[in-house]
Amino acid sequence: MGKKCIICHEEAVYKIKDTSDYYCEQCAEENFSDLKMLVKVEAEVQLLKEAIKEKIGEDFEEEEDVSNN
Ligand SMILES: [Zn+2]
Repeated sequence: MGKKCIICHEEAVYKIKDTSDYYCEQCAEENFSDLKMLVKVEAEVQLLKEAIKEKIGEDFEEEEDVSNN
C-alpha cells in the first residue's frame, strides 16, 4: 500500500493498466480525459488479495504494511 502519484507524490488512487504508473485522482483527471485506461489501485489490491487467498487457501493472513513516511 501507499503508492504515490508519479506527478505530485500525493497518495495514488489510480494506476495505468499494465504499467506501474500511479496517479492521484486530480492528476489522473488532468492527464487522462478517458479514465477507462486507469484502474483503481484499491480495486487492484483487492483482486490481488483474492488471488492470493485462492492460491494459499484459508490460512492466508492479511498483513498490513504500515509505513510511516
Ligand atoms: Zn498527483
